[in-house]
Amino acid sequence: MNCKDVIKMIPDFLNNDLNGRELKSFIEHMERCKDCKEELSIQFLVQEGMARLEGGDIFDLQNEFDRVMEDARRKMRIGRIINYIVYGIEILVIITILTIIILIIVL
Ligand SMILES: [Zn+2]
Repeated sequence: MNCKDVIKMIPDFLNNDLNGRELKSFIEHMERCKDCKEELSIQFLVQEGMARLEGGDIFDLQNEFDRVMEDARRKMRIGRIINYIVYGIEILVIITILTIIILIIVL
């Protein structure tokens, strides 16, 4: 994914609209691309700042941003663990089926 695609995904990220695979590519890009992270940080501060302004609470936005990134990373890790579990189950099912086939042939 290039920077242009990532920048286009920022509003969806901020609205929590990215699916697992998109989120993974998005975060991975953010971790190695300072320019996009900067852009994300700005858009986050603007969006969140506007919302906070109405509520009169504009403190700690930088911390808030760090928290959003941490949440996204955690979500990504959980998604990866679930993927591993699904792969594991699939492999187990295949092994079981193969075993049954071999037993049928041998017996
Ligand atoms: Zn980039």
